[in-house]
Amino acid sequence: MKLYNTLSKKVEEFDSISQDDPKQVNMYACGPTVYDYSHIGHLRKYVMDDVLVRVLRHLNYDVRHVQNITDVGHLVSDDDEGEDKMEKGARKYGQSAREIARKFEDYFFYSMDKMGILRPTLSCRATEHIQSQLEMVLDLEKKGFTYIIEGDGVYFDTSKLEKYGELSGYDPRNTPHESRMGEVAGKKNPTDFALWKFEKPGENRQMIWPSPWSARSFPGWHVECSAMSIEHLGPQIDIHTGGIDHIAVHHANEIAQSETFTGKKPFARFWVHHNFLRVDGEKMSKSLGNFYTIDDIIKRGFSPAALRLLFLSSHYRSEQNFTFHSLEASQTAFEKLLQAYLTIKKNHRDDADDQEDNRETEKFSKQFFAFVEDDLNTPEAVTVLWQVLKSDLSDRQKYFLLLEFDRVLGLGLISMSEKDLSSNNQEILSLEDLPDSLQKLFAEREAARSDKDFAKADQIRQEFAKVGYQLIDQAGSVLIKR
Ligand code: AMP
Ligand code: ZN
Repeated sequence: MKLYNTLSKKVEEFDSISQDDPKQVNMYACGPTVYDYSHIGHLRKYVMDDVLVRVLRHLNYDVRHVQNITDVGHLVSDDDEGEDKMEKGARKYGQSAREIARKFEDYFFYSMDKMGILRPTLSCRATEHIQSQLEMVLDLEKKGFTYIIEGDGVYFDTSKLEKYGELSGYDPRNTPHESRMGEVAGKKNPTDFALWKFEKPGENRQMIWPSPWSARSFPGWHVECSAMSIEHLGPQIDIHTGGIDHIAVHHANEIAQSETFTGKKPFARFWVHHNFLRVDGEKMSKSLGNFYTIDDIIKRGFSPAALRLLFLSSHYRSEQNFTFHSLEASQTAFEKLLQAYLTIKKNHRDDADDQEDNRETEKFSKQFFAFVEDDLNTPEAVTVLWQVLKSDLSDRQKYFLLLEFDRVLGLGLISMSEKDLSSNNQEILSLEDLPDSLQKLFAEREAARSDKDFAKADQIRQEFAKVGYQLIDQAGSVLIKR
């Protein structure tokens, strides 16, 4: 198995860090901050983590996969200032911080299940590990790596380290001092970060704990991942995953505090980082109207497996641009695959032949696994799957190959039936395909949309529905389906 390691900036041969048990893999994945609905960007990241776990298990590694739930401490800015995202979410939804934490944790796992993502071996909440986070900060303080900013918090002094920020190739000499000072007055070095924060006067936080420094305080975000990873997986782990947005700050800080705490290097042997999903070429955001959840996908008649196939068609280290047109193509491809699989499944028993030549089967199998074991090259692996379907292999051979591949791809073919085919048999149309009267109505609706007259736009959408057309608003365009 080869994996790209952000630490060495090279594709390396994977091996377990454990001397006693070379088949043991301890993997920690940064989990979601549960202050709002999980979106399709999250889904891409966790689908690719899932593929990594599945490939390692295929190679007979015993994977212990720990994933956290950030339910406190993640501030709006990476620079230790701004509001806590949980408190912000609580205000937005008019519920307590604890209530929204559970609600969005549930939504996260609901989304994961829909996508066929295996549950982690252990899911752990930051709020249930306050003691171990506090003990870590106290240890760092005892070792002389911290300082206090009055009325703000306990900070890690990164100038005490021989090296900081190796992961991103960070060099303090080349970085303007101000660029990471943020708004925090009293920081000694741009890269210093908060380990523990104190409530500000009048802040009236919901999530609060006593500490030796303040009766009303809470852990910083970075310390939770170090504390939970060390508590559940030991001082050193084999793999740590996260999105590329975490490289420069969150993960650099995890390394600094973990290695200082345990005295062992490296904290993680492999750092695996996922690139981002954009939507219609833009960063996903609610204000742009391009923020989609799994339910938005299902409501529009697409199946989660088609979305998963779309994610697999791009390499996890490349940025992927999501559009409903690409999802439509993936839906068609997925239904073709499922149709073929169901036919093969029906026929495969009649196709038994003891004299079968299995050299072709082995060739395909080798090709497929060579791709997924080569830094998770899922786009190429999926092309092998199509080649199998087109090949002269018997239905019996195809059936077993598809099931073998799907144990890694995770589309869930084994539990699917005809009813999974009917999720979307609508055709996408362009404006010219519509009769003139509807084209006129469509233009009226566009005008209403640009005037922000959403009531009128909705009423016209219903008129379209009455004559059998579905209009799906996307950022910048409208999808017409029949
Ligand atoms: P968060 O809930 O923001 O803490 O994010 C949880 C994980 O999802 C992190 O590893 C992020 O890097 C990742 N993530 C967030 N947004 C996206 C996106 N648009 N595309 C891919 N990964 C993302
Ligand atoms: Zn983390």
